[in-house]
Amino acid sequence: MHPAIPQLLELQTLDQVIASSRAELDSLPKKLREADAKLTGARAAVTGAKEAHTQALSRRKKLELDVEQWKTQAKKYREQSSSVKTNEAYKALQHEIATAEAEVSKVEDLVLEQMMTIEDIERRVKHAEADLRESEQAIAAEKKQMQVQYGEKKKNLDAAAAAREEIANKVPGELLDLYTRIAKRHPGSALAEARDEQCRACGVRVLPHVLQMLKTETDEEVFRCETCGRILYSLEPIPHAQHRQATNGAANS
Ligand SMILES: [Zn+2]
Repeated sequence: MHPAIPQLLELQTLDQVIASSRAELDSLPKKLREADAKLTGARAAVTGAKEAHTQALSRRKKLELDVEQWKTQAKKYREQSSSVKTNEAYKALQHEIATAEAEVSKVEDLVLEQMMTIEDIERRVKHAEADLRESEQAIAAEKKQMQVQYGEKKKNLDAAAAAREEIANKVPGELLDLYTRIAKRHPGSALAEARDEQCRACGVRVLPHVLQMLKTETDEEVFRCETCGRILYSLEPIPHAQHRQATNGAANS
């Protein structure tokens, strides 16, 4: 296995960290918008309640005008009744007066009802406004929390990027280029472990002699999976090294 493989593995781990940190940081504006969108419902409730209040006030105004009109009407008939000549005309006017007065009392009842409706709506407005204030405070806190997390993630990202640069400098240029090319096609997995005679990334068989070479400490070749093209590495113990140690041990005794 090429001696720079452990560094490439570190590089790969850092690239994974960098990619996920970037994705999280990039999602912040959307998260902030989503938080703001939660206020839409509460704002609409306030607007709706205020509109209902305006409408209820104008209905009361209209009913009050109706009362005045019926009262004026009744007054007019009463004035006329003092100067009528016939009994029939008098009776007809009395009937008109009674009708107008009944209307006055009917519409006055409606005015009272409407005033209660208005009180209900005023309570609704107050509740909606309180809800909105509460939501605004909660959302503001949520957004502040997001900003704090953003700062921490940004710090982690910067640290990972610095560490990556340091390690990348240690990897031979040609190998780094190869890694970069493969990582473009397989982001975060330019390297694949060779285990159980398989490339663990694509599952295709790795030839026994390649496996053997990967486990050989002194080997400086780079082996790639013939199918997916990833750089292969082995985490299994290196039998050759153990063997050599054992041989040395035997020779010393
Ligand atoms: Zn493969």
